[in-house]
Amino acid sequence: MTIAPSVIDAIGRTPLIELRAASKATGCRILGKAEFMNPGGSVKDRAALFIVQDAIAKGALKPGGVIVEGTAGNTGIGLALVANAMGFRTVIVIPETQSQEKKDMLRLQGAQLVEVPAVPYANPNNYVKVSGRLAERLAMEDPAGAVWANQFDNVANREAHIATTGPEIYEELGGKVDGFICACGTGGTLAGVGMALKARNPDIRIGLADPFGAALYSYYTRGELKAEGSSITEGIGQGRITANLEGAPIDVAYRIPDSEALDIVFALAEEEGLLLGGSSGINVAGAIRLARDLGPGHTIVTILCDGGARYASKLFNVEFLRNAGLPTPKWLERQVGIDP
Ligand code: PMP
Repeated sequence: MTIAPSVIDAIGRTPLIELRAASKATGCRILGKAEFMNPGGSVKDRAALFIVQDAIAKGALKPGGVIVEGTAGNTGIGLALVANAMGFRTVIVIPETQSQEKKDMLRLQGAQLVEVPAVPYANPNNYVKVSGRLAERLAMEDPAGAVWANQFDNVANREAHIATTGPEIYEELGGKVDGFICACGTGGTLAGVGMALKARNPDIRIGLADPFGAALYSYYTRGELKAEGSSITEGIGQGRITANLEGAPIDVAYRIPDSEALDIVFALAEEEGLLLGGSSGINVAGAIRLARDLGPGHTIVTILCDGGARYASKLFNVEFLRNAGLPTPKWLERQVGIDP
């Protein structure tokens, strides 16, 4: 397809990019699916589109209606672009800790932002719960009605990856794929791609790359939901088994420290021209660990979730990184003090 009838038709069919350093270091072929190339700049455009289409098909979302969602940002950006293209409005509840760049982007897209303190899911003021209550209220108050996207427990999210991301990976590689691994926010990507690949070949190994501060690594290794430590990555780090994660075919789990992920983020930018967000670093670190476990000669796919520009004030800010006790990229430090 060369002419997309609308921006919505430009979602998906992203390329697989060979990650040279990761492949060389492991003797495997490690490929990143370039989800940052979606129109909204992240993997979440796919879920946003499926959630909206599902709500329309069920008759829940009416012309001019409001889509309400609690999101770390990327789902909101995807929902806002789909909503704008299809004649809906968006109200986005976001934890105030998320990057300024994502909040600015949401405002640019005309989403109404509700910033809330970042508190755990168990707290009734958690952003997800606030968004659910707000959707209920707006459904009654707004003349055109409102729906709650509910990305965590709405399986239209993982359906997007069962129907598109997973099949794209399998078909692009002619079935020659040995492993797939990524981190979880909602779990939609991991569960959906995992299910699609296992349905085509049950021998494909499906891995979870978990940041510190999330509880899934302990769940998939010891059967117990327990979080330890913390991470500066955004959009990932789940503490419960969401509806999207139920039945996810996960064979192996790794826990990745930020320092390991950031070294990869910085090297990908400097050496391979790929400026990516922190979750992509966790994913590629996970792909390297899976490659080492499988041994040389295998093909492993992961997700390059979003671009680094979305985190310029954090991940690519020397002062922020130093204050967080994290490694700083040499090429960033070199940016200071050059006379014309
Ligand atoms: N990376 C980033 C940057 C994200 O915003 C998200 C979604 N919150 C993810 C990864 C995880 O995707 P999923 O919700 O499909 O687990």
